[in-house]
Amino acid sequence: MSLKGRKALVTGGSRGIGSAIARRLAADGATVAITYAGNTAAADATVAAIRDAGGTAFAVQADAADPVSQRAGVEQAAAALGGIDILVHNAGVAEFSTVADDSDETYDRQFGVNVKGLHVGTRAALPHLNDGGRIILIGSISGDKAFPATSVYSATKAAVAALARGWAKDLAPRNILVNTVQPGPIDTDMNPADSEFAQQMIEAIPLGRYGRVEEIAGAVAFFAGPDATYITGTTLNIDGGAAA
Ligand code: NDP
Repeated sequence: MSLKGRKALVTGGSRGIGSAIARRLAADGATVAITYAGNTAAADATVAAIRDAGGTAFAVQADAADPVSQRAGVEQAAAALGGIDILVHNAGVAEFSTVADDSDETYDRQFGVNVKGLHVGTRAALPHLNDGGRIILIGSISGDKAFPATSVYSATKAAVAALARGWAKDLAPRNILVNTVQPGPIDTDMNPADSEFAQQMIEAIPLGRYGRVEEIAGAVAFFAGPDATYITGTTLNIDGGAAA
């Protein structure tokens, strides 16, 4: 129970990687708030799983792409938690197309959730974030490495890592540590391991398989926990060697 007494907010915690992060932080003792875009059933299922395991959790609907909604969601979560120790920006969207088929709308949607949502959410959280707290951003190995038809998504994730490095310096005087976890291919609704795309991807992964959501959650728990007191402004790839 290394996070006992800690208060955590996980954006996009209803499904996939975010749900696994919320469940792991709760299993480690944190009280957890999750946000979600619209899938109330999935959000309720994550909260129920945490409660069934003896943890404490609740869900708040907040659209990360909408600054008003994002700010209100963070405010609501912070008030209910009574402050924030751990902020995990996980909510993200991916829309794959080559530059010839990209549009203003696909650009704005991806930057809206993946970058602006983090920026708005962090600024809203800062007055509630306790000194010594942690901010963990979910980027992607796509932020460092190009894959076919993902340039805009990759650009959002490069921006995520850049924000984390800048925030690490800005927030060091408060001992708030900021790091980015960069997953490789992880089996979720966004990137199912049984798709045709996945079969091509697996050939490029030295460990020869997709990752599991729990393998990302474990790294987030490490960055959130007592063994990570001298790590800030860094990125950690969890990708089966895909970016090596
Ligand atoms: P999923 O599509 O499986 O889940 C996305 C989650 O984000 C859901 O909880 C969803 O809520 C929430 N979400 C989406 N849009 C918004 C929004 N506008 N406002 C609030 N919440 C939102 O994605 P993954 O679990 O696969 O991805 C999670 C993160 O990991 C993302 O940042 C993604 O870019 C990153 N990542 C994923 C990889 C992978 O291979 N899966 C690889 C590298 C990075 P709701 O249920 O309500 O729709």
